[in-house]
Amino acid sequence: MDQLLPAPTVIADDQMDDPAYGDCDCACPQAQHIPAAAPSPTARLEPHPQLRALRLDDEHSVAFVPSHSRVAVLDRPARALIARLADAVPLADLPPAEAAAAGRMAALGLLRERGAPDARPPAPDQLVVWLHVTNACNLRCTYCYLEKTDEAMSEATAHAAVDAALRSAVANGYRRVLMKYAGGEASLNLPLVALAHRYALGEAAARDIALDGVVLSNGVGLTSRRLAIINDLGLRLMISLDGPAAYHDAQRPTVRGQPSHAAAAASALRAQAMGLALNLSITVTGQSVAGLPDLVAWALDHNLRFALNFYRENDCSASRADLLLDEQRLIAGIRAAYAVIEERLPPYSLLGCLVDRANLGAAHERACAAGENYLVIDHHGQIASCQMAISSPVTTTAAADPLRQIRLDPRGVQNIPVDQKEGCRDCEWRYWCAGGCAVATFRATGRYDVRSPSCNIYKALYPDVVRLEGLRLLSRHLAAVAA
Ligand code: SF4
Ligand code: SF4
Repeated sequence: MDQLLPAPTVIADDQMDDPAYGDCDCACPQAQHIPAAAPSPTARLEPHPQLRALRLDDEHSVAFVPSHSRVAVLDRPARALIARLADAVPLADLPPAEAAAAGRMAALGLLRERGAPDARPPAPDQLVVWLHVTNACNLRCTYCYLEKTDEAMSEATAHAAVDAALRSAVANGYRRVLMKYAGGEASLNLPLVALAHRYALGEAAARDIALDGVVLSNGVGLTSRRLAIINDLGLRLMISLDGPAAYHDAQRPTVRGQPSHAAAAASALRAQAMGLALNLSITVTGQSVAGLPDLVAWALDHNLRFALNFYRENDCSASRADLLLDEQRLIAGIRAAYAVIEERLPPYSLLGCLVDRANLGAAHERACAAGENYLVIDHHGQIASCQMAISSPVTTTAAADPLRQIRLDPRGVQNIPVDQKEGCRDCEWRYWCAGGCAVATFRATGRYDVRSPSCNIYKALYPDVVRLEGLRLLSRHLAAVAA
């Protein structure tokens, strides 16, 4: 009878390790996926006890184990196979097509060897360095946390910053470093970005460290000449764009109170035409959430990648009640954006870009790198654990190992592993969510060791994201089959 069954189909994304996948406006979690070892022919596989499935259509469901597996689309025969494996059929007794499908589902983490424990999330293998190349900015965004001045980083400080970062990378065993050139507005000091990155490339190569870099910009001053410099340096680019013109301009006016949307959007399109690896960073506030569907439609229509970040209140923005996020309004606004995405499913994974700091693409213990594998180096060479704590540095570039000082600091941002957060420990989403931004949690609760104030929003949206990713995988699969 088994030979007469149609072959099971398992559809998953094998492209998720693209470095641009995780670019964000701060120290994003890494999407580091460690595939499970192939099961032996004598293995008895079982469905993971937390395996869940959401219906996509009459034939297909999206299957996942929250926090642990990859997300995959299964057809009816694949689901029937899982049901049979619940009866402990040895892998060797399955027909070849079913054994292959079962092996693939085991590699994705949907099945496991009977009784096997879940693996712990891997430790991040990359040091992230925020280089605050200038404290100046040509915009005055309503939610900015920075006390801006006209000061810029000097060449000597840039060299010292790169040296300090690489010292810490070597001392702490990191073979990969990501430089984030930021400010202020990084493009206002682009010659220093070029100098720092060329120096970093040479020094990293001498230490056998792989160096990667991205420029974070508001996009307003990115002339074709500046974009060409960024491109020639091999850097990626992230531009902040918060809505269609009316919403973006209300939230991100220039220093003279003028609109900035047209210039930022034009820069994004110029960068894309030039072939730059580009991500849009979209900060969602109470002020802008209503414009989110139109912005997302524009981005997808232009094949631009984007990531959604939630507004984080800070001392500079605290008087702006209009920025605050009402839970139900935020969820409704984001779901409206998801409906737009469903009509325009992109070629890239949606798992790491649709809910604030969460990454549903790979397990991780911390929501970001702050306090652990992150150095924020300001224009004077002082080093903080997070850019939102840049005015409270912990150490300087003169330290032998600045990362060690950051990790040992008991006063600054404490980025607690999710297993140690009250309310998160038993949450099924914990290794995809990791409990949210530590700074936002502390501001809202006075504690670092509790779940995020955005928890209800996260839990409402995570299943929607998994379903959208399932629809995306399915539509690409069906298009490939038809072609
Ligand atoms: S913040 Fe909420 S959704 Fe995230 S891990 Fe904690 S309990 Fe789960
Ligand atoms: S603590 Fe929050 S603001 Fe700071 S790097 Fe992490 S996610 Fe970003």
